[in-house]
Amino acid sequence: MSTFDLSKIRNIGIIAHIDAGKTTTTERILFHTGLTHRLGNVDDGNTTTDFMDQERERGITIQSAAITCTWDGHQINIIDTPGHIDFTAEVQRALRVLDGGVVAFDGVSGVEPQSETVWHQADRYNVPRMCFVNKMDRIGADMDKTVKMIKDRLGAHPVVLQMPIGTENDLNGVVDFIDMVAYYYDPEDPSVEKKAEIPANLLDEAHARRDKMLEAIADVDDEIAMAYLDGEEIDRDTIISALRAVTIANKAVPVLCGTALRNVGIQPLLRAVVDLLPSPLDLEPMKGESVLTGEEVECLPDVNEPFAGLVFKIMSDPFVGKLAFVRVYSGVLRRGETIVDANTGKKERIGRLVRMHADHREEVEEIFAGDIGAVLGLKNAVTGHSITDESLPVVMENITFPNPVIEVSIAPRKREDQDRLGIALQRLSEEDPTLQVHTDERTDETVIAGMGELHLDVVVDRIRREFKVEVDCGAPKVAYFETITRAVSVEGRLVKQTGGHGQFAVVQIEFEPGEPGTGLVYESKIFGGAIPKEYIPAVEKGLRSALAEGPLAGQPITDIKATLVDGKFHEVDSSERAFEGAGAIALRNAMGRGAAVLLEPIMSVDVVAPADFTGDVIGELSGRAGTISGIEPRSTGVQTVRAEVPLARMFGFATSLRSATQGRGTFTMEFTRYQQVSEETRKEMAKNVA
Ligand code: GDP
Repeated sequence: MSTFDLSKIRNIGIIAHIDAGKTTTTERILFHTGLTHRLGNVDDGNTTTDFMDQERERGITIQSAAITCTWDGHQINIIDTPGHIDFTAEVQRALRVLDGGVVAFDGVSGVEPQSETVWHQADRYNVPRMCFVNKMDRIGADMDKTVKMIKDRLGAHPVVLQMPIGTENDLNGVVDFIDMVAYYYDPEDPSVEKKAEIPANLLDEAHARRDKMLEAIADVDDEIAMAYLDGEEIDRDTIISALRAVTIANKAVPVLCGTALRNVGIQPLLRAVVDLLPSPLDLEPMKGESVLTGEEVECLPDVNEPFAGLVFKIMSDPFVGKLAFVRVYSGVLRRGETIVDANTGKKERIGRLVRMHADHREEVEEIFAGDIGAVLGLKNAVTGHSITDESLPVVMENITFPNPVIEVSIAPRKREDQDRLGIALQRLSEEDPTLQVHTDERTDETVIAGMGELHLDVVVDRIRREFKVEVDCGAPKVAYFETITRAVSVEGRLVKQTGGHGQFAVVQIEFEPGEPGTGLVYESKIFGGAIPKEYIPAVEKGLRSALAEGPLAGQPITDIKATLVDGKFHEVDSSERAFEGAGAIALRNAMGRGAAVLLEPIMSVDVVAPADFTGDVIGELSGRAGTISGIEPRSTGVQTVRAEVPLARMFGFATSLRSATQGRGTFTMEFTRYQQVSEETRKEMAKNVA
């Protein structure tokens, strides 16, 4: 590719629930775009995007990485999105930086509950999408059923562009309704694609389906509607440009089909990515807030604008160290130039820049607006922060991360590994903001907290493998928090002046409930030197140290806004330590007077089971303090029961569901929010602490 032509860039994600074939599809795309010279099979464990050992073993893609490939003069950046629900924060982060998505489904199971979750997340970020109905070679694969589910369950407007030729082992091609041709593939030689006439036995059906395709476009596009009603012949370019427009406007989703495993339909998928998904120019520009003026700034996709980019992923690479993946929205990210982290004000020089390909890293001098690349050795980079030109620091809407819901204690098997474990945990939590590490004050154990059991499993696995530390873990426990429910203004007073060098610090702090997931937000409104400047950060330090343990059940304190408004000091007896102490005392006082409550994670649970068992499923969920929020028919004779249940009550659910439904029920769950625990649970927990 020459310097840049923004209209020829596609930043896409392959979005799918686990096992739908995302890895295989990505792998095939990389093969066909010419950068992978050998076909990898997930089952053999040698794919290219899944470069972490355990991903290979588990066959799931956990880390999002961006990979660049080229197809037909276009540069396609594939942003890897994890499929497992435990990693929704990663999915969200990826969804923000991509411009379009290919959503893969399993042609047998169709739209799974987890695909629904991810789909709705993509809705939230207005990501234009198309669908790839994969695994059409499997017994029972049903394109029409899947399309119906896309419509009914996802509320989308599908436009079906293809039908498969053959079934199961004989599936060897697709009919394309836009050009009315057939494409055939050779299982022996995946690079072959043969264009041919539509086989006679499928011709009538293909014509009927082409009409349906045109009707579906006509539903959302006036020009096609007029032409179609007038019975005009509509040419390829008109169809493509109309379909492209309605796809980008999120009015329709083109649907393609094939089998990634057997290489059927991958080249048409790539052509559709280029033809139908947006370039960075086609979308609303990213908006941010100027740090200097507080005004809204549009980050236009133009190389002549000041540089603005978003760090969406930090990874530590065993060979090159820390890699910060950046989506450049405006201007040019250049090697050797200095940028500022707009969220923190810290400046840093850009050392080396790379673009990641399937099988190598390419060192580059610059990355242009609209493109994606990685910076090596950016010391202070944090996921979700904006890095920009020094002259115009802009914060693009920060990504908020939910509090962790589950935790487990972790210890090195060998004492001498303690330091290495510390380093590993620091490195991993830098990469992954949803992973938190703290020390349990009461037991002195190191505790890791995250978004689900699998999330923590993966962390522990990486500690073993990448950092070579053998560890033992406790049983997973629900993560509770404490917070206040009303605003209070309290004093924190540390005064010890009984002879000799004393201690003196008094602070007046206004506390109020904070937004969920914000932790402690601290601000100083000290004017006129009521306390000297150097003590202001000390007060924050004291507050933070007191967050570790709340008064109700010894759980960490969160979501509190603290504003330092006044204080007193003593020329001789005041010190930073004294002000730290006063800060901690203030927080304790606030918890005492601010109507403190205990928060527990509430999960949204979807149970899918035959309708005969609906009563038992409801009983099972209600018995676990669940609130049923809906019952929906799913397919013939099968229903989905939705409920909200405290995570603490979900342990062992898989087993009891199995026995309640004779093994026919399945479920998924996802964190929704933290909520005040019931009085009963609170008393129970307080007993355990005392
Ligand atoms: P991911 O979890 O979405 O990344 O899915 P994978 O690509 O790892 O695929 C999951 C499983 O489905 C693997 O065993 C694949 O070999 C298999 N698979 C992927 N694509 C197809 C396909 O088109 N047909 C069939 N029959 N199996 C497939």
